[in-house]
Amino acid sequence: QTEDDPPMPRHRVTTKGKDVPEHVETFEALRERFHLPSHLLQKLAQHGYKRPTGIQSHGIPILMERRDLAAISPTGTGKTLSYLLPVMAALGAPAASSKSDAGSGVRAVILAPTRELAHQIHNECLKLAQGRKWRIVLFSKATAATLADKKVREKIDIIISTPLRLVASLQAGNLELDNVRHLFLDEADRMLDTEFLEQVQEVIAACTHPEIQKAVFSATLPANAEKIAMSMLRDPIRVVVGLKDT
Ligand code: ADP
Ligand code: MG
Repeated sequence: QTEDDPPMPRHRVTTKGKDVPEHVETFEALRERFHLPSHLLQKLAQHGYKRPTGIQSHGIPILMERRDLAAISPTGTGKTLSYLLPVMAALGAPAASSKSDAGSGVRAVILAPTRELAHQIHNECLKLAQGRKWRIVLFSKATAATLADKKVREKIDIIISTPLRLVASLQAGNLELDNVRHLFLDEADRMLDTEFLEQVQEVIAACTHPEIQKAVFSATLPANAEKIAMSMLRDPIRVVVGLKDT
Protein backbone atom coordinates (compact mmCIF):
# COMPACT_ATOMS: atom_id res chain seq x y z
CA GLN A 1 0.00 0.00 0.00
CA THR A 2 1.31 3.47 -0.91
CA GLU A 3 0.50 6.88 0.48
CA ASP A 4 -1.88 7.44 -2.43
CA ASP A 5 -4.13 4.54 -1.57
CA PRO A 6 -7.43 5.51 0.00
CA PRO A 7 -7.57 4.83 3.74
CA MET A 8 -9.50 1.76 4.90
CA PRO A 9 -13.12 2.76 5.50
CA ARG A 10 -14.14 3.49 9.10
CA HIS A 11 -16.57 1.12 10.69
CA ARG A 12 -19.19 0.86 13.35
CA VAL A 13 -18.43 -2.07 15.63
CA THR A 14 -20.69 -3.83 18.11
CA THR A 15 -19.59 -6.56 20.47
CA LYS A 16 -21.52 -9.06 22.55
CA GLY A 17 -20.28 -11.52 25.15
CA LYS A 18 -18.86 -11.85 28.64
CA ASP A 19 -15.84 -9.73 29.67
CA VAL A 20 -15.05 -8.48 26.18
CA PRO A 21 -11.35 -7.53 25.98
CA GLU A 22 -10.75 -3.88 25.19
CA HIS A 23 -9.98 -3.05 21.55
CA VAL A 24 -6.69 -1.54 20.41
CA GLU A 25 -6.28 1.65 18.39
CA THR A 26 -2.84 0.76 17.04
CA PHE A 27 -0.77 -2.33 16.29
CA GLU A 28 1.90 -0.92 18.63
CA ALA A 29 -0.51 -1.28 21.56
CA LEU A 30 -0.35 -5.05 21.01
CA ARG A 31 3.32 -5.01 21.91
CA GLU A 32 2.69 -3.59 25.38
CA ARG A 33 -0.44 -5.55 26.12
CA PHE A 34 0.42 -8.93 24.65
CA HIS A 35 4.15 -8.75 23.94
CA LEU A 36 3.50 -9.03 20.21
CA PRO A 37 6.96 -9.90 18.85
CA SER A 38 8.67 -7.00 17.13
CA HIS A 39 9.36 -9.03 13.99
CA LEU A 40 5.59 -9.18 13.45
CA LEU A 41 5.21 -5.44 14.00
CA GLN A 42 7.97 -4.90 11.47
CA LYS A 43 6.17 -7.09 8.94
CA LEU A 44 2.99 -5.07 9.35
CA ALA A 45 4.88 -1.84 8.70
CA GLN A 46 6.72 -3.39 5.75
CA HIS A 47 3.46 -4.33 4.11
CA GLY A 48 1.92 -0.92 4.68
CA TYR A 49 -0.52 -1.93 7.39
CA LYS A 50 -0.49 1.30 9.35
CA ARG A 51 -3.61 1.02 11.45
CA PRO A 52 -5.83 -1.90 12.42
CA THR A 53 -9.20 -2.08 10.67
CA GLY A 54 -12.34 -2.36 12.80
CA ILE A 55 -12.33 -6.14 12.93
CA GLN A 56 -8.59 -6.18 13.62
CA SER A 57 -8.82 -3.57 16.34
CA HIS A 58 -11.48 -5.60 18.17
CA GLY A 59 -10.80 -9.16 17.02
CA ILE A 60 -7.05 -9.33 17.63
CA PRO A 61 -7.19 -8.61 21.40
CA ILE A 62 -10.05 -11.09 21.77
CA LEU A 63 -8.08 -13.82 20.04
CA MET A 64 -4.87 -12.92 21.86
CA GLU A 65 -6.69 -13.34 25.15
CA ARG A 66 -7.48 -16.80 23.80
CA ARG A 67 -11.23 -16.29 23.68
CA ASP A 68 -13.50 -17.89 21.11
CA LEU A 69 -14.85 -15.48 18.52
CA ALA A 70 -17.56 -15.09 15.91
CA ALA A 71 -16.50 -12.19 13.68
CA ILE A 72 -18.85 -10.70 11.12
CA SER A 73 -17.26 -8.01 9.01
CA PRO A 74 -17.76 -6.96 5.36
CA THR A 75 -15.58 -8.20 2.52
CA GLY A 76 -12.32 -6.29 2.21
CA THR A 77 -12.06 -5.28 5.87
CA GLY A 78 -8.99 -7.38 6.69
CA LYS A 79 -10.47 -10.43 8.39
CA THR A 80 -7.51 -12.56 7.31
CA LEU A 81 -4.93 -10.56 9.25
CA SER A 82 -7.30 -10.39 12.23
CA TYR A 83 -6.81 -14.13 12.79
CA LEU A 84 -3.36 -14.71 11.30
CA LEU A 85 -1.60 -12.21 13.52
CA PRO A 86 -2.78 -13.83 16.80
CA VAL A 87 -1.85 -17.26 15.44
CA MET A 88 1.65 -16.15 14.51
CA ALA A 89 2.05 -14.44 17.88
CA ALA A 90 1.04 -17.60 19.74
CA LEU A 91 3.09 -19.99 17.66
CA GLY A 92 6.45 -19.75 19.39
CA ALA A 93 9.33 -21.82 18.05
CA PRO A 94 8.81 -23.87 14.87
CA ALA A 95 7.71 -27.47 15.45
CA ALA A 96 10.81 -28.59 13.53
CA SER A 97 13.11 -26.84 16.00
CA SER A 98 14.45 -28.51 19.12
CA LYS A 99 13.42 -25.39 21.05
CA SER A 100 9.74 -25.95 20.40
CA ASP A 101 8.02 -26.06 23.78
CA ALA A 102 4.54 -26.46 22.39
CA GLY A 103 5.06 -30.10 21.56
CA SER A 104 5.33 -31.41 18.07
CA GLY A 105 2.90 -31.18 15.24
CA VAL A 106 0.25 -28.91 13.83
CA ARG A 107 -0.79 -26.13 16.20
CA ALA A 108 -3.16 -24.14 14.00
CA VAL A 109 -5.69 -25.13 11.34
CA ILE A 110 -7.43 -22.66 9.08
CA LEU A 111 -10.28 -23.95 6.95
CA ALA A 112 -11.64 -22.20 3.88
CA PRO A 113 -14.35 -23.26 1.42
CA THR A 114 -12.28 -23.05 -1.78
CA ARG A 115 -8.75 -23.87 -2.79
CA GLU A 116 -8.45 -20.36 -4.24
CA LEU A 117 -9.24 -18.76 -0.90
CA ALA A 118 -6.96 -21.15 0.98
CA HIS A 119 -4.23 -20.07 -1.41
CA GLN A 120 -4.82 -16.37 -0.64
CA ILE A 121 -4.73 -17.03 3.10
CA HIS A 122 -1.51 -18.99 2.67
CA ASN A 123 0.09 -16.06 0.83
CA GLU A 124 -0.96 -13.62 3.56
CA CYS A 125 0.46 -16.00 6.15
CA LEU A 126 3.79 -16.30 4.32
CA LYS A 127 4.08 -12.51 4.29
CA LEU A 128 3.98 -12.46 8.08
CA ALA A 129 6.22 -15.50 8.45
CA GLN A 130 8.94 -14.34 6.10
CA GLY A 131 12.38 -15.03 7.55
CA ARG A 132 11.00 -17.44 10.15
CA LYS A 133 11.30 -21.18 10.02
CA TRP A 134 7.66 -22.02 10.59
CA ARG A 135 6.27 -24.62 8.24
CA ILE A 136 3.01 -23.30 6.86
CA VAL A 137 1.33 -25.80 4.61
CA LEU A 138 -1.27 -25.13 1.96
CA PHE A 139 -2.93 -28.49 1.85
CA SER A 140 -3.19 -30.17 -1.53
CA LYS A 141 -3.17 -33.65 -2.98
CA ALA A 142 0.61 -33.40 -3.28
CA THR A 143 1.26 -32.24 0.30
CA ALA A 144 -1.22 -34.79 1.64
CA ALA A 145 0.81 -37.54 -0.05
CA THR A 146 3.94 -36.51 1.87
CA LEU A 147 2.16 -36.95 5.22
CA ALA A 148 2.46 -40.73 5.25
CA ASP A 149 5.85 -40.01 6.87
CA LYS A 150 5.18 -39.10 10.51
CA LYS A 151 8.43 -37.13 10.66
CA VAL A 152 7.12 -34.83 7.94
CA ARG A 153 3.81 -34.10 9.61
CA GLU A 154 5.37 -33.54 13.02
CA LYS A 155 7.23 -30.56 11.59
CA ILE A 156 4.18 -28.71 10.34
CA ASP A 157 3.16 -25.61 12.32
CA ILE A 158 0.09 -24.34 10.46
CA ILE A 159 -2.26 -26.01 7.98
CA ILE A 160 -4.48 -24.06 5.62
CA SER A 161 -6.93 -26.27 3.78
CA THR A 162 -10.35 -26.93 2.39
CA PRO A 163 -12.32 -29.30 4.65
CA LEU A 164 -12.46 -32.21 2.23
CA ARG A 165 -8.68 -32.41 1.77
CA LEU A 166 -8.07 -32.44 5.48
CA VAL A 167 -10.75 -35.02 6.22
CA ALA A 168 -9.26 -37.32 3.58
CA SER A 169 -5.91 -37.29 5.40
CA LEU A 170 -7.58 -37.79 8.78
CA GLN A 171 -9.49 -40.77 7.46
CA ALA A 172 -6.31 -42.23 5.98
CA GLY A 173 -4.74 -42.01 9.44
CA ASN A 174 -2.10 -39.65 8.07
CA LEU A 175 -2.69 -36.65 10.28
CA GLU A 176 -2.86 -35.94 14.01
CA LEU A 177 -4.61 -32.78 15.14
CA ASP A 178 -4.45 -33.40 18.88
CA ASN A 179 -2.03 -30.53 19.47
CA VAL A 180 -4.07 -27.93 17.54
CA ARG A 181 -4.60 -24.80 19.68
CA HIS A 182 -6.35 -22.65 17.07
CA LEU A 183 -9.07 -23.81 14.70
CA PHE A 184 -10.42 -21.00 12.53
CA LEU A 185 -13.13 -21.10 9.86
CA ASP A 186 -12.98 -18.46 7.14
CA GLU A 187 -16.10 -17.65 5.11
CA ALA A 188 -17.98 -19.37 7.88
CA ASP A 189 -21.39 -18.85 6.26
CA ARG A 190 -20.33 -21.41 3.64
CA MET A 191 -18.34 -23.60 6.03
CA LEU A 192 -21.36 -24.10 8.28
CA ASP A 193 -23.79 -24.72 5.43
CA THR A 194 -24.80 -28.26 4.46
CA GLU A 195 -22.06 -28.63 1.84
CA PHE A 196 -19.23 -28.57 4.40
CA LEU A 197 -20.78 -28.93 7.84
CA GLU A 198 -20.17 -32.64 8.27
CA GLN A 199 -16.52 -32.33 7.23
CA VAL A 200 -16.00 -29.36 9.52
CA GLN A 201 -17.46 -31.33 12.39
CA GLU A 202 -15.09 -34.18 11.63
CA VAL A 203 -12.12 -31.82 11.80
CA ILE A 204 -13.38 -30.36 15.08
CA ALA A 205 -13.74 -33.84 16.53
CA ALA A 206 -10.11 -34.61 15.62
CA CYS A 207 -8.89 -31.46 17.42
CA THR A 208 -8.90 -32.93 20.90
CA HIS A 209 -6.64 -30.51 22.77
CA PRO A 210 -8.57 -29.20 25.80
CA GLU A 211 -7.30 -25.66 25.34
CA ILE A 212 -8.30 -25.31 21.72
CA GLN A 213 -9.47 -21.89 20.61
CA LYS A 214 -12.10 -21.78 17.88
CA ALA A 215 -13.25 -18.83 15.82
CA VAL A 216 -15.36 -18.16 12.75
CA PHE A 217 -15.10 -15.28 10.28
CA SER A 218 -17.59 -14.17 7.70
CA ALA A 219 -19.03 -11.21 5.84
CA THR A 220 -22.50 -12.43 6.73
CA LEU A 221 -23.77 -15.09 9.08
CA PRO A 222 -27.35 -16.24 8.43
CA ALA A 223 -29.35 -17.21 11.52
CA ASN A 224 -28.90 -20.93 10.99
CA ALA A 225 -25.13 -20.72 10.52
CA GLU A 226 -24.89 -18.42 13.52
CA LYS A 227 -26.76 -20.93 15.68
CA ILE A 228 -24.38 -23.70 14.65
CA ALA A 229 -21.36 -21.43 15.18
CA MET A 230 -22.47 -20.50 18.69
CA SER A 231 -22.93 -24.16 19.60
CA MET A 232 -19.37 -24.93 18.44
CA LEU A 233 -17.74 -22.05 20.30
CA ARG A 234 -17.01 -21.88 24.02
CA ASP A 235 -18.14 -18.73 25.84
CA PRO A 236 -17.86 -16.84 22.54
CA ILE A 237 -17.64 -13.15 21.83
CA ARG A 238 -19.55 -11.90 18.82
CA VAL A 239 -18.18 -8.92 16.93
CA VAL A 240 -20.19 -7.29 14.16
CA VAL A 241 -18.69 -4.65 11.92
CA GLY A 242 -20.96 -2.53 9.74
CA LEU A 243 -19.92 0.08 7.23
CA LYS A 244 -20.65 3.58 8.55
CA ASP A 245 -23.59 5.38 6.96
CA THR A 246 -25.07 2.29 5.37
P1 ADP B 1 -11.69 -9.83 4.09
O1 ADP B 1 -11.23 -11.23 4.38
O2 ADP B 1 -12.33 -9.18 5.27
O3 ADP B 1 -12.53 -9.75 2.85
P2 ADP B 1 -8.90 -9.42 3.51
O4 ADP B 1 -8.33 -10.05 4.72
O5 ADP B 1 -8.87 -10.22 2.25
O6 ADP B 1 -10.40 -8.95 3.79
O7 ADP B 1 -8.18 -8.02 3.30
C1 ADP B 1 -8.51 -7.16 2.24
C2 ADP B 1 -7.29 -6.33 1.85
O8 ADP B 1 -6.97 -5.39 2.86
C3 ADP B 1 -6.06 -7.16 1.61
O9 ADP B 1 -5.40 -6.70 0.46
C4 ADP B 1 -5.20 -6.87 2.84
O10 ADP B 1 -3.84 -6.99 2.56
C5 ADP B 1 -5.59 -5.44 3.18
N1 ADP B 1 -5.44 -5.09 4.60
C6 ADP B 1 -5.73 -5.88 5.66
N2 ADP B 1 -5.52 -5.23 6.82
C7 ADP B 1 -5.08 -3.99 6.51
C8 ADP B 1 -4.69 -2.85 7.28
N3 ADP B 1 -4.73 -2.86 8.62
N4 ADP B 1 -4.29 -1.73 6.62
C9 ADP B 1 -4.28 -1.73 5.27
N5 ADP B 1 -4.62 -2.76 4.48
C10 ADP B 1 -5.03 -3.89 5.07
MG1 MG C 1 -11.66 -13.07 3.63
